Amino acid sequence: MRPNDYLDRKVETATAKETARLQQALLASQLDYLFARSEFYQEKCRDAGIRRKDFRTLRDLGRFPFTTKEELRASQAAHPPLGRHIAADWHDVIRVHSSTGTTGKPSFVGITRRDAKIWTRLTARSFYTQGLRSTDVVVHAAGLTLFVAGLTSKDAIESVGAVFVPLGTGASEKALTVIPLLGANAMHCTPSYAAYFADFVRRAGFDPRDLGLKKLFCGAEPGAGIPAVRAKIEQDWGARVTEGLGNADMAPIVFSECAEQSGMHFNGPDAVVVEIVDPQTSECLPLEAGVTGELVYTSLQRECVPLLRFRTRDRVQVLGTSCACGRTGFKLRCIGRTDDMLIVLGVNVFPSAIKEVVSTFCPSTTGEIQIVLDKPGPGVAPPLRVVAECCGEPSAAASLKSAIERKIKAMLSVSASVELVPAGALPRYEMKGQLVKRSYENKAAVKADVR
Ligand SMILES: [Zn+2]
Repeated sequence: MRPNDYLDRKVETATAKETARLQQALLASQLDYLFARSEFYQEKCRDAGIRRKDFRTLRDLGRFPFTTKEELRASQAAHPPLGRHIAADWHDVIRVHSSTGTTGKPSFVGITRRDAKIWTRLTARSFYTQGLRSTDVVVHAAGLTLFVAGLTSKDAIESVGAVFVPLGTGASEKALTVIPLLGANAMHCTPSYAAYFADFVRRAGFDPRDLGLKKLFCGAEPGAGIPAVRAKIEQDWGARVTEGLGNADMAPIVFSECAEQSGMHFNGPDAVVVEIVDPQTSECLPLEAGVTGELVYTSLQRECVPLLRFRTRDRVQVLGTSCACGRTGFKLRCIGRTDDMLIVLGVNVFPSAIKEVVSTFCPSTTGEIQIVLDKPGPGVAPPLRVVAECCGEPSAAASLKSAIERKIKAMLSVSASVELVPAGALPRYEMKGQLVKRSYENKAAVKADVR
């Protein structure tokens, strides 16, 4: 292993014991800070009957209450601009980001100078894990403005010494000119955009491979972790796809994949404590291969928005606890968001899992799908309506349809009714893909128009 294979060797290759010691010390200081500075957490802990002195070892974290996104939203609505949960003075805040939730109302996240420094280092470490080096020219084809991973990616990529090209979104025409002129060899984007842009380049009469992108750093949605989806993007571009996972409230990237491409490493043991809990019972699960559950984050060095056992609603699966790259952070993949989960006759199913099954039929299908809901979920009466694209002869469509339906049943225990449409018929997305079409929303809109 070359000595420069890690950005932060000590943290990234620490033993479990060393990591636990570091986290315990940092968490003790973070709790001191929280109890001293945040009325929101003082109240939460008081209501839960837990005191600061009840924390002695890392194991005690499980006795503390969870924090939910709804609580942060309510706190912000009642105490604008940043909420009662913030623990820094407003004049120490140097930047504000936001996430847009399902309500469309922005949820703000402030950072102090120290928070920004920690975010930058953690994000740089994650990009470095994904293969970013100082010689790279990276086109950032993702949001730049309020999006947490915009300006932080800029700071992180620049800090490694690589060239950051702030392309932003909706600029495919520009990208087509800029990438060859600058000799860009890497792109940071959503997997949906990597697929969309490949089609765009082909429509313009070029082969995506001729653009020379060799590294695709993907994130913001689960697609790149789906083997068939990744394989198609890699084939389109002749590039290596690696993915990262973060959270608007915690940090832009917390997990990222190394060259082994066997799941995303936990990269931030000096910034976050990660727990995986059973989403129904809230029971803490062991970090072992095969375990699936919801990611829960506790910050370790946060000044503006310290988070205590924050329920991310990200559903993940632990893939392993060791790696040929030498990093000791456990590896996982994201299965989907709890908010996206559908329940068909008591069986939980994520839209990304349907996409994963359909993608195994490439090249007979494009792998693009849409799940059609006639009524609001998460409960869905079977069969689940799935629209997929058929690439082959129409005569082969009937057998493809039943083969996909059988495989969905076999893999996910869900009855589906598959409708095949021609390749290219489903909408493509430049930002995050939309795997679910809510047909009842259109009906409501039509009704509203009539009135
Ligand atoms: Zn690795």
